[in-house]
Amino acid sequence: MDCIFCKIIAGEIPAVTVLDEELVLAFMDINPASRGHMLVIPKRHAESIFEISEGDLGAVIEAARRCAISAKEALKADGVTVLQFNGRASGQVVPHLHIHIMPRWENDGLSVSSWEMKPGDMGEIRDIAQKVKEQMSQSS
Ligand code: AMP
Ligand code: ZN
Repeated sequence: MDCIFCKIIAGEIPAVTVLDEELVLAFMDINPASRGHMLVIPKRHAESIFEISEGDLGAVIEAARRCAISAKEALKADGVTVLQFNGRASGQVVPHLHIHIMPRWENDGLSVSSWEMKPGDMGEIRDIAQKVKEQMSQSS
């Protein structure tokens, strides 16, 4: 499969590894948005949250938590942004699920979430919640 992250897992492309476990690999991002920016991925290929199994996702999230805590401690960060995109429309570029771990410092100037905070229409918010709940009860 022509997937750059699968090639990293297979050892065909070099990466600076932070964590290598049965189900999960974590490695440094080569275009770091912040000092210590790393990616946590499942070893079994899954494009996004829509395809991955609950078991593999659980392993990835649990490893992401450990990476975030260790990066915060090791780099004396003030916080850590944890980011994950699903689908091109959301900003996903590499189609192999990955969680970004970005150590952050007060006033570091990085902008990763910049939507305008303005009150929504409560009727519409309730309608949308209802639609999602109906969908969820059909899917389970
Ligand atoms: P996105 O799909 O938008 O969440 O971003 C993909 C991320 O993968 C970017 O932050 C890239 O810098 C990173 N990336 C792409 N190729 C590599 C690579 N070979 N090694 C490490 N990071 C990579
Ligand atoms: Zn892959």
